[in-house]
Amino acid sequence: MRLALDVESAARLDGVRRLGASRIRPLGLEADRLGRPVPPEDPYFAALLALGLGRTRWNPEAGKPKAAPAVGTSRFTLLLAEEQAYWDRGVAVAAPGPGLGEPPVLSMGTDEQKRRFLGPFLAPDRPRWGSFAMTEPGAGSDVAAIRTRAKADGDHYVLDGEKSFAANASRADWIVVWATVDPSLGRGGHRAFVVERGTPGLGDFKIEKKMGLKAYESTSFTLRGCRVPAANLLGGEGHYGARAGFKGALASFNATRPMIAAMAVGIGRAALDAALVFAQEHGRLDDARVRDRLERSARKLRMARLLSLRAAFLADHQRPNLVEASMAKAVAPAVAYEAASLGMELLGAVGARGDHLIEKLFRDVKAMDIVEGTGQIQRVVMARQLVNLPREAGG
Ligand SMILES: Cc1cc2nc3c(=O)[nH]c(=O)nc-3n(C[C@H](O)[C@H](O)[C@H](O)COP(=O)(O)OP(=O)(O)OC[C@H]3O[C@@H](n4cnc5c(N)ncnc54)[C@H](O)[C@@H]3O)c2cc1C
Repeated sequence: MRLALDVESAARLDGVRRLGASRIRPLGLEADRLGRPVPPEDPYFAALLALGLGRTRWNPEAGKPKAAPAVGTSRFTLLLAEEQAYWDRGVAVAAPGPGLGEPPVLSMGTDEQKRRFLGPFLAPDRPRWGSFAMTEPGAGSDVAAIRTRAKADGDHYVLDGEKSFAANASRADWIVVWATVDPSLGRGGHRAFVVERGTPGLGDFKIEKKMGLKAYESTSFTLRGCRVPAANLLGGEGHYGARAGFKGALASFNATRPMIAAMAVGIGRAALDAALVFAQEHGRLDDARVRDRLERSARKLRMARLLSLRAAFLADHQRPNLVEASMAKAVAPAVAYEAASLGMELLGAVGARGDHLIEKLFRDVKAMDIVEGTGQIQRVVMARQLVNLPREAGG
């Protein structure tokens, strides 16, 4: 597994690092103070486009992602995600791009669908977003329980249901919406539709209240008699054999879980750096127990980064990474949480005031365990693979 970056990627990463202190962190702190996401028209997003970011990894010539042959997350994308999250994970997710909507289009979409939906992200003329909506008020970890219905009607499908917590949904050009053609089929009934902005019946966008990560919107919305062209069913109906929809969702998760892990490492590093500064300024580094805890936290964060890189490396080389993606996702948020907790302990009463960076990171880091499958769900996945836990025991 090669860890070094090529010169061009290293330079782009440096560019983001420079933006971090001057733009990303201040934007995140402001959004946290105001309790609202960074608005889509903020000039920061246009600045990202000028840096060559906010684009798709799809390469129309190869018909495959540029940096990776499968739906993988290239080393650069991962390190970029970590670096952005170091400065502010909320601002990182608010950044333009096809986002979590990209992996299902890449893994399940026809060439024509990739051209239609990812084409505008090749050299975007303005900040554009994609979104991914699986979760519903009654279906989170148990994705088989989704109730958004899709009924075929001529050359359209009619979608009815509710979605929640979809990142960037209200500003997105399109949302990959997961629905079922028959709830009694469980995962076998799942279909993924690209629902375009402005489609009649798509509406009631409501930005959820969150304890942290306030710089990006997590949005609920409804689909009421929402007529979506059959051409927007990812892969077409022929794609959906037994559990193919579920496999498509899984392929997405295997690509995005290492990314979430990398972002958790970024938040953890930020908390640890701030804790170190506080400990230094308050003479706490004379205490061997404090030094030991700081070292342990730094070591675990490095370990988590390696796990996420390994999971991405396997996906990039089209090798199975189910266990590695879950392992990275289970481990990284936990060690990042540990780093933020350590910071809070060192702060003492200062942390309780609610105006220190570590206190914000402590609130931000919580969601990292929840998104893209909770830590418990990752442990269920790993147990099935590593110690043959029977399927019934994990739901
Ligand atoms: C900030 C944020 C951003 C998000 N972004 C998106 C997004 O862009 N798109 C999207 O579709 N969704 C998104 N989500 C939703 C997220 O994927 C769900 O919250 C997550 O899957 C958990 O579902 P739930 O909240 O319904 O919890 P539940 O599934 O109700 O789980 C509650 C608790 O029970 C545990 N549990 C549940 N089942 C089991 C089991 N079988 N074994 C052991 N423990 C179990 C869980 O680990 C958890 O601790 C986001 C959520 C948050 C907080």
